[in-house]
Amino acid sequence: MDVSFILDALNDKQREAVAAPLQNSLVLAGAGSGKTRVLVHRIAWLMHAYELSPYSLMAVTFTNKAAREMQGRIEQLVGLPPQGMWVGTFHGLAHRLLRAHWRDAGLKENFQIMDSDDQLRLVKRIMREFNIDDTRWPPKQVAWFINGQKDEGRRAAHVPDSHDPFSKGMRELYYHYEEACERNGLLDFGELLLRAHELMLTNPALLKHYQQRFVHVLVDEFQDTNTIQYAWLRVMVGDTGTITAVGDDDQSIYGWRGAKIENIQNFSKHFNDVATIRLEQNYRSTGQILKAANGLIQNNDDRLGKELWTDSGDGDPISLYAGFNEQDEARFILEIIKKWRDDGTALKDMAILYRSNAQSRVIEECLVREQLPYRIYGGHRFYDRLEIKNALAYARLAVDPNDDGAMERVINVPPRGIGERSIGTLREIARDQGCSMWQAAEHIVQHGVMPARASNAIKNFLQIIDGMGNTLIQPDLGLGDVFEHIIQEAGLIPHHEKEKGEKGEARIENLKELVSAASGFSWSEDDEEFSSPMMAFLDQAVLDAGEAQADEYQDSVQLMTLHSAKGLEFPLVFLTGVEENLFPSKMSFEEPGRLEEERRLCYVGITRAMEKLYITYAESRRLHGSESFNSPSRFIREIPQECIEEVRLRSQVARPVSMQRHNYQGTLQKQNQSILHGYQVPETNVSMGDRVKHPVFGEGLVINYEGQGPQARVQVNFDTEGTKWLVLSFAKLEVL
Ligand code: ATP
Ligand code: MG
Repeated sequence: MDVSFILDALNDKQREAVAAPLQNSLVLAGAGSGKTRVLVHRIAWLMHAYELSPYSLMAVTFTNKAAREMQGRIEQLVGLPPQGMWVGTFHGLAHRLLRAHWRDAGLKENFQIMDSDDQLRLVKRIMREFNIDDTRWPPKQVAWFINGQKDEGRRAAHVPDSHDPFSKGMRELYYHYEEACERNGLLDFGELLLRAHELMLTNPALLKHYQQRFVHVLVDEFQDTNTIQYAWLRVMVGDTGTITAVGDDDQSIYGWRGAKIENIQNFSKHFNDVATIRLEQNYRSTGQILKAANGLIQNNDDRLGKELWTDSGDGDPISLYAGFNEQDEARFILEIIKKWRDDGTALKDMAILYRSNAQSRVIEECLVREQLPYRIYGGHRFYDRLEIKNALAYARLAVDPNDDGAMERVINVPPRGIGERSIGTLREIARDQGCSMWQAAEHIVQHGVMPARASNAIKNFLQIIDGMGNTLIQPDLGLGDVFEHIIQEAGLIPHHEKEKGEKGEARIENLKELVSAASGFSWSEDDEEFSSPMMAFLDQAVLDAGEAQADEYQDSVQLMTLHSAKGLEFPLVFLTGVEENLFPSKMSFEEPGRLEEERRLCYVGITRAMEKLYITYAESRRLHGSESFNSPSRFIREIPQECIEEVRLRSQVARPVSMQRHNYQGTLQKQNQSILHGYQVPETNVSMGDRVKHPVFGEGLVINYEGQGPQARVQVNFDTEGTKWLVLSFAKLEVL
């Protein structure tokens, strides 16, 4: 069979990587150089040139979405879906192994996966149970500690003993936490990997089976694997398999979660005869965007070192916009989006990126006002929403009434007369008897140990859940019908109808969306390791939470954090909130190496853009309820200034970029003052280039303005305080 078509749309280096012999290889290359493309083509090549069955391949991608995309692209390339191939995230694949071999892994058959909320709730529950002071050991920090240990592959028993009481307490809590998880059949995300790794180590026959099965393993975004993920990969590949890893050290952005760049350096030591291939031609972005990215990342030391280039032309310079606050920033972004839309660009080709989730709210409000559909990756995720989590908790109880986490969540939602006192009693009985809360509830109902009213309320709840459980075993009901029933029996719709305004309405819409998500859920033959479609659906909901959205197919503006933008590309990209303390984040100043990681994150952001990049910042910002004045991010300064063009405000005169650079450094040189002089702010006594004095900020130079008369705003570059926008009528500026 002629397989050369697979190599057609590749450059020489890419071809070398794709058509390499069946060996260990490492593709090290910058953003947009075709790493993911190489992986896809390599899979197709292995299937066709080497006639490997898809069954003998495993591909690890960074998100479930990327996994689906990869399958789609392979199908496109070779005309057949790669049936039997294992493709997914580390978590997804580990989970699959555990479902298939739950007994060998020492798990309960219907084990449940906890997301970070569930996890935190469990930690709190344990702390209450053992009367542990949550001011000394804040629950969030405890969860963080446990996750960190798991990322390093350590169980509580492996955590070194310590004399310092704080560490001792942490270790103790980790023990209790492990016990509680064990007892309740609960697995957090880190546990999936840890357990899958142990499963392989403790079951040689099983390990041998998988090592023989997976002839070749492929890993995307390799720079972000942590210790346990890497250990698991090494075990799965063993001595008989081979591996292709692709990655970019400049895009390593999960150090804070235990990812190790060192894995790239160690790769050649741990695997035999590794062929290393570098790609430097970029096919994604314009020359200007690449120049900006290259210039920025040069400020990091200890890089493996590579420079991206393109032959697709320079393109537009990067536009920089200074909003006077976050509202103005959002307004500006919307203006540009509408312009691009009117010029025929699809909304899905536009992405707004930000450093932290909380920044999305203002932009979202603006989008809603303008009635522009949008989609958020991460953040307020569909499966993370309160009403959805409640409905899912009912479903979990229907599957397994002994799921205490689910029980605590919904026993009195909607309110059905089961108060904190009753719940406390249930907890107590469960603890004393070593049983689940469900069993405790049954006990109460049977033995009348509570006042009739409370006891009846509990009985009523037990009956509701029993009824839901029955729907699961009716063969004629689809998953959508089951959810419809669950939502109705739980009384969730009337509950949210009582909520005022749009919020309740939105929640009801989401619940309806859940029914349709369940109806549309396909349970493929590949999923034989799940005991029922409901189990598969519930797990999928947790694993997919970061990615799945109700409105996946509607054309909509894409909003996401920089972390979730990895691997993606969009013609138009907004990098927002590029301010000191926000990006780089304040936290990154405290720990060594974190600032470099922030810079890599910025590099990831810039290199998402194909045609046009906007960088925006706000001179004042209200976030988390307080107002701050941050100066523009150092990252802006680190981008070669010739790639940047400042956006002019509506009534503004040109501000030469060269001058702007001096601005950042806080001093304006004489020659620049003369450029400015002469433009008077209409109907005022202030002119550009005037030196002015502010009662609080001191002396500075007027460098920009907007509007006219007393309501005009001027931008002043203060000698000691940096630049600020001020409304003339409030600012009490004295012209010197
Ligand atoms: P990232 O580091 O951001 O994950 P990447 O290295 O994985 O990037 P890809 O996403 O594989 O890069 O490729 C970037 C873009 O360039 C894609 O749109 C891809 O289709 C295109 N591309 C890559 N190689 C070629 C090629 N040889 N010819 C044409 N287009 C290409
Ligand atoms: Mg990629």
